[in-house]
Amino acid sequence: MQIWHPFTQHGLNEPIIEIKTSENEFLITKTGEKIIDGISSWWVNTLGHKNPVITKTIQKEAEKLHQIIFAGFTHKPALNVAERLSKFLPENFTHIFFSDSGSTSVEVALKMAVGYHYNKGQKRSKIVAMEHSYHGDTFGGMASGARSVFNEPYTKMLFDVERIPYPAPGKEEETIKYYKDLLEKKGGEIGAIILEPLVLGSGGMFFYPPYVIDELYKLSKEYGVIFALDEVMTGFGRTGTMFAFNQTNIMPDIICLSKGLTGGSIPLAATVCTKEIYNAFLSDDKAKMFFHSSSYTANPIACAAACANLEIWQNNDILKDVKRINDFYQTQIERFKNLGCKNVRTLGDIFAYEVNHTGNDYVSNIGVKLYEYFRKNGVLLRPLGNTVYVMPPYCISNESLEKVFNIMETGIKEAL
Ligand SMILES: *Cc1c(COP(=O)(O)O)cnc(C)c1O
Repeated sequence: MQIWHPFTQHGLNEPIIEIKTSENEFLITKTGEKIIDGISSWWVNTLGHKNPVITKTIQKEAEKLHQIIFAGFTHKPALNVAERLSKFLPENFTHIFFSDSGSTSVEVALKMAVGYHYNKGQKRSKIVAMEHSYHGDTFGGMASGARSVFNEPYTKMLFDVERIPYPAPGKEEETIKYYKDLLEKKGGEIGAIILEPLVLGSGGMFFYPPYVIDELYKLSKEYGVIFALDEVMTGFGRTGTMFAFNQTNIMPDIICLSKGLTGGSIPLAATVCTKEIYNAFLSDDKAKMFFHSSSYTANPIACAAACANLEIWQNNDILKDVKRINDFYQTQIERFKNLGCKNVRTLGDIFAYEVNHTGNDYVSNIGVKLYEYFRKNGVLLRPLGNTVYVMPPYCISNESLEKVFNIMETGIKEAL
């Protein structure tokens, strides 16, 4: 049997590289080549590969407890995650629901929001999402996310979503106005809005400012719309704060967490919500319970890894490293502008720009060419179409950062 890899066109004979081990910002291949992981292995790895504290914790927990049923039973690692995570979140977040991937954390958020209204006897099942957004590859995630070549075969199966425009620089007011008009017209049907705060990741690393979130939130509250933030990518320091919503003045009703939750070690996800949401399911009527579970809900080993990760965040100034990385990025903006790159931008751990191009979609060849050039030179970056971005683990050394940026420069000059 052969392995069918994700987001891979095997028909193009893309090479598949076997990794033997990993450490800090490096992936180390079977043949001993060291590759700098410039995208944190698709955004999961925050602290660095094989963080020793997390590794130890996993080893210890594996001897104590593997998966157990989580309906009617609980365990210390899960209780500890709830307790430790609450130290990083406003008190209004009173409940945590575990699942096992970013996509499922979004499905859970959508089901919580729609179920909330249903249990209150309200027919408000419409979801609002943003243009260019990405919320995962399951059906609810695909429906909420941007429609593209990624999900075209499934278009007819995806539920309708009200879409607000991306607040591009200078167009922020248009987005707010669009949402206001939408609520005036259809407010009574709308159950929830789900957003990637500050950065639309997979959609192309598009940024927008915190005040837009503040304004969309105010409008949502006026119309009784549940405000859900998908912090699957932005959570755990990516935007320069622990969570992206820390840069706003709002208190979301629901947030989705996954990628950085275990520091990039084992899959785990959490959907965190307020008492108001939870209470809508609290009843002596069984039919009102929240009908959702994953078999591996709150896996004890994964929860222990999350606890270790949260403890590291508690005891160390991780954001100082994010700042160090961003300070370096600031010194690179002019350089990439001078290379002819467009929209050179940075936020927290993210540096992104567009290279000159003729076509503008994900399948365009520019990204593939650059990917191959970077990889042959010991750097893993996976451009999104003609958008090149860097998002390394926070432990990356200054030397490795320099190397990534030097390879990007020669890549732009030589590969294009
Ligand atoms: C990656 C991502 C998801 C999906 O997470 P998976 O763990 O891949 O299912 C959802 N939302 C956002 C914003 C993401 O970046």
